Amino acid sequence: GMPSAPPPVLAPRRKTRQIKVGSVGVGSDSPISVQSMTTTPTTDINATLQQIAELTASGCDIVRVACPSADDAEALPIIARKSQIPVIADIHFQPKYVFAAIEAGCAAVRVNPGNIRKFDDQVKEIARAAKDHGTSIRIGINAGSLEPGILKKYGKATPEALVESAVWEASLFEEHGFNDFKISVKHNDPVIMVAAYEMLAEQGDWPLHLGVTEAGPAFQGTIKSATAFGALLSRGIGDTIRVSLSAPPVEEIKVGNQILQSLNLRPRKLEIVSCPSCGRAQVDVYTLAEQVTAGLEGMEIPLRVAVMGCVVNGPGEAREADLGVASGNGKGQIFVKGQVIKTVPEDQIVETLIEEAMRIAEEMGEA
Ligand code: SF4
Repeated sequence: GMPSAPPPVLAPRRKTRQIKVGSVGVGSDSPISVQSMTTTPTTDINATLQQIAELTASGCDIVRVACPSADDAEALPIIARKSQIPVIADIHFQPKYVFAAIEAGCAAVRVNPGNIRKFDDQVKEIARAAKDHGTSIRIGINAGSLEPGILKKYGKATPEALVESAVWEASLFEEHGFNDFKISVKHNDPVIMVAAYEMLAEQGDWPLHLGVTEAGPAFQGTIKSATAFGALLSRGIGDTIRVSLSAPPVEEIKVGNQILQSLNLRPRKLEIVSCPSCGRAQVDVYTLAEQVTAGLEGMEIPLRVAVMGCVVNGPGEAREADLGVASGNGKGQIFVKGQVIKTVPEDQIVETLIEEAMRIAEEMGEA
């Protein structure tokens, strides 16, 4: 068929320099990437690689692993080599692990300068080692670990404090001719976080890694991240994202991907358009939507499936979707690409939708 126009986005992307995290470009026109962090002990190489494989399968672009000890640093070469996606080593406190991670072949290293005493003295050597190995850096400023001087000046982690710290650290690397870094200025409060990133975006062309830190358990963390990232991404700000949840990392990837898909910043895959149900519903919409979602989980093709409780908006939405059902009178009208293809009894709605989805997927695969 005709190539279709790219779906609309809310704002053009902010212009940034581009860096590489291994094979993944970050910044400029590179697609916005989704990251997570492993929760296994890094020293447990098999478990860590297993979790990385699960993250890769769920659509993770870049993975970060913690490196708090010499044993963790020793595990990095194998993890970096065997991971299917670029690995970032996350370093606090000990600059010697920064060098170990660079030597280990990690795609990038995350440093939190607030947690490295005398960081300024080390920047030149870090920059040189990183440049020699083609390693990029994330300068990860965090509200919980601001440099003492800046904390004293502002009293607490205000947007201004986070940004001043970030700009200062950036200048230390740039003084040594090192530009292959991105920046994050994380805070657990989405309002402060958004203000900080907006301010930072004005002050340089650095690629930005978005994150709401310590966002909380899945429900709260998902909403905090979605609102904060949404505010920034809708203005073109943000080049790579990490949703932090007190939940398994695969959940972070699902949320991150869904945020990008919602804003047309990543191609949409399966999308269930289901009504909230109301007093007019002639079918149990919650159960029906859940069963359809479960039945179609993991579908890799873009598919909009409408599940509607009655005939008010039902046929309209079902017609707009690739596939849909409008229920009423104990029956479901099944729509494919705007045409009613059949009417089935209520208890056959789910299986019919799944069958039709599989058929569409097969056709698309053959096309
Ligand atoms: Fe209510 Fe029907 Fe709308 Fe669903 S589609 S919310 S049941 S009016």
